Amino acid sequence: MTFQVLAKAERSRVLLLPQSGNNTLFEGYLRLKDMPQGPRVFKFLVKKESQAERYLPPEEALRMLRKAKAIHLARGDPEMEKKLIKLLESYQLGYRFVSICNHCLGQSRVTFVGREAIAYKGTWICENCAAEELLREANFRHLGRAAKAHLAGILKARRSLDDVVGLLSLQRLEPELTLFDTIQASREEPTLTLESVDLPESLKELLQKRLTCLLPVQSRSVQSGLLEGRNQLIVSATATGKSLIGEMAGIKRLLEGKGKLLFLVPLVALANQ
Ligand SMILES: [Zn+2]
Repeated sequence: MTFQVLAKAERSRVLLLPQSGNNTLFEGYLRLKDMPQGPRVFKFLVKKESQAERYLPPEEALRMLRKAKAIHLARGDPEMEKKLIKLLESYQLGYRFVSICNHCLGQSRVTFVGREAIAYKGTWICENCAAEELLREANFRHLGRAAKAHLAGILKARRSLDDVVGLLSLQRLEPELTLFDTIQASREEPTLTLESVDLPESLKELLQKRLTCLLPVQSRSVQSGLLEGRNQLIVSATATGKSLIGEMAGIKRLLEGKGKLLFLVPLVALANQ
């Protein structure tokens, strides 16, 4: 197993994650002190899983860094990073900058990311962490399987979890992302003009204030004999103009003195209208 160390400058200390292969051996923290000859290790704190934290002699940290096959630096606090680099250089320790998943780092795991990295909250995270995070968000919003798959597709193409999560919270709506499917518009039916419909003039005048053409379902009804006294059963979506169909038939007969109009509706609100 290759032994290597990941180092990241934090605001007041340096995080060290010694790795054996893919395993993190422990979390170490260096506190640096400015000395006349440059920054030096002042304290070395070690946290091992299920063990109490303890301080080791500062030389132990240097011994560990010397032993490492590679020292990887993840971008961190710029000021502390400068000190860390000075320290490494003064001990002639080679290092190289790497990009790692910030979420994995939060769990003391080191996952290198390259071009497949996903942008999230100003840092980069790995594809696994991004998928987990997205799933959490999607479950929180009770999304179904198709929606989840769609979002995963957007994430893959965009490589930005911010964009996808923004989409969910309605903060970042882009037609390019929100477009889920395209369906053909139904064939547009030519509709009758109000003028051409056989209605009493007084009713026509009233209607002319609101419309010049009938809606498709109204036109169909008229063409199927609505105004010639044919019985019809009309099923049509809300707000497609059913009420006027009944009114045209009933009011016409009423005005022509051919009977009475009984208009039944299932809701009080509709009756009030
Ligand atoms: Zn990750």
